[in-house]
Amino acid sequence: MLEGARERRVRTGGVELCVAELGDPRRPTVVLVHGYPDSKEVWSEVAARLAGRFHVVLYDVRGHGRSSAPSPLRGGFTLEKLTDDFLAVADAVSPDRPVHLVGHDWGSVQSWEFVTVKRTEGRIASFTSMSGPSLDHFGHWINKRLRRPTPRRVGQLLGQGAKSWYVYLLHTPVLPELAWRGPLGKRWPGILERVEKVPGGDYPTASLPSDAAHGAWLYRDNVRPRLRRPREDAYAHAPVQLITPLGDAFLSERLYDGLELWAPRLTRRTLPAKHWVPRTRPDRLADWITEFVTATEDGRSETAANGKYADRFGGQLVLVTGAGSGIGRATAFAFAEAGARVVAVDRDAEAAARTAELSRLIGARAAWAEAVDVSDEQAMEKLAARVAAEYGVVDVLVNNAGIGLSGSFFDTTPEDWKKVLDVNLWGVIHGCRLFGRQMAERGQGGHIVNTASAAAFQPSRVLPAYGTSKAAVLMLSECLRAELADRGIGVTAICPGLVNTNITSTAHFAGVDAEEEKRRQQRTARLYGARNYPPEKVADAVLEAVVRNRAVVPVTPEARGAHLMSRFAPRMLRRLARVKPPL
Ligand code: NAD
Repeated sequence: MLEGARERRVRTGGVELCVAELGDPRRPTVVLVHGYPDSKEVWSEVAARLAGRFHVVLYDVRGHGRSSAPSPLRGGFTLEKLTDDFLAVADAVSPDRPVHLVGHDWGSVQSWEFVTVKRTEGRIASFTSMSGPSLDHFGHWINKRLRRPTPRRVGQLLGQGAKSWYVYLLHTPVLPELAWRGPLGKRWPGILERVEKVPGGDYPTASLPSDAAHGAWLYRDNVRPRLRRPREDAYAHAPVQLITPLGDAFLSERLYDGLELWAPRLTRRTLPAKHWVPRTRPDRLADWITEFVTATEDGRSETAANGKYADRFGGQLVLVTGAGSGIGRATAFAFAEAGARVVAVDRDAEAAARTAELSRLIGARAAWAEAVDVSDEQAMEKLAARVAAEYGVVDVLVNNAGIGLSGSFFDTTPEDWKKVLDVNLWGVIHGCRLFGRQMAERGQGGHIVNTASAAAFQPSRVLPAYGTSKAAVLMLSECLRAELADRGIGVTAICPGLVNTNITSTAHFAGVDAEEEKRRQQRTARLYGARNYPPEKVADAVLEAVVRNRAVVPVTPEARGAHLMSRFAPRMLRRLARVKPPL
């Protein structure tokens, strides 16, 4: 029983369905349909998060959980019968208003049927699909590739074919039933925890062996007939939001190529996760469902921002330090264009406020400014507490704030060292420690990006302190990446070369008087200006690095060159390090 849920029984087609409701029935109704081999409890985390805003309805599919099974089983699980069940539930819980449908796995497969058949028209306001394609679309997808088998298409067929091994097994008689009622049923919770990283709790329920045995008929009754003769008119009559977990062991991303043909009002979302997202990513799902349902209710067809990577970062909470200028500001803008919620942190309050304001204008779902010095441990602790309380757990953290320092080792004073290490290294440590811990404790993944520099692997006679601070950031990132990999948190070190930003005019030149320092700042600024590599390109690299979960990303050709040399020609790099820069 889900906490706080009201239960009722709905009779339909010779079975009795167990239906649970949460939240205020006067609010828009969201119906959550579970997959295989699950029961409605797979949704408990998501349902709890949605119940404050919506009337949430979950039901055990026939033969699962506390719903009764059809008799005989064979022929009792056809998509037509499942559609009858859905309509009976919808009529019982929301007789006057269409419902918002959400399906996972087989819950999504059957929901595709609901949203593409004529008799449900007007009963479904929107559909959010995750990890379960329409069998009709799948059938056409296969046929298209068989009819014109280019090497790429054959590769796609074989790839999905390999991922579908369990579908073949489920078509064998009796064997699946024996396995589920025997050893597999006992081991399943452990397998989910180990392989899929599904945390323990009220799921899976004790009904698992019989759910899984009955559910085998979902496959047997539907897969072969539909794949052989897919419907020609399987067009969605409601807006569809497709959420694709990129690490799904059972479904290839390619399955959804061209889905716009079948679902013209399509919003795509992607997330780095495995198959059981209702258990592993409930915050993200609840947020995307809320946004989509609310937009549909308000009559807005456009929900997601349309920037590059909007499918991935829409609605995510992104915190960028040093966001008042240069690379930090460009990074905040790139996430804003992708529809993220942006926290712009800088010690310069006005600059941070400006970044937040512009972020809102260019597409951020929300943006806030925070004036904090990243080297100040207590201020960072307060920031972390405030952000968690007011905006939530950060999904992407970009530790970017940094300062420049140039000068020979003997000209660099202990104060100079302290200053550059405090900002460039300790600022990153504080960020990782505080926001990284929140991410890890939430247990729903995330990503940390630390701005190092090409100076992290390219020695230079004039950058001993700066280079040391950045090399430390690079190693910290690598160690943290190893530690957090298990928790689905990626860590990236970004290593730019010469980028045209304000850093040159604020960098400190050790061992020279104020006048000479000014002159050197101006000369460096001219040099960087002539090189003219824009911070926006670094921002692009940051977003791509998060999407691809890259470890170390040199940006600019000279940084890439130095990175290669550090591996394959380190002696040459050491020679270059001796050259005095022309300042
Ligand atoms: P920038 O000077 O244009 O921007 C840095 C921002 O960080 C400024 O808004 C500044 O106010 C803020 N900041 C500085 N110290 C801070 C502190 N203690 N707390 C909070 N905010 C602080 O410089 P940029 O070039 O955009 O630099 C961003 C990062 O990129 C830095 O870490 C820098 O070392 C690194 N980087 C820059 C280059 C380059 O060529 N520009 C190359 C490699 C690495």
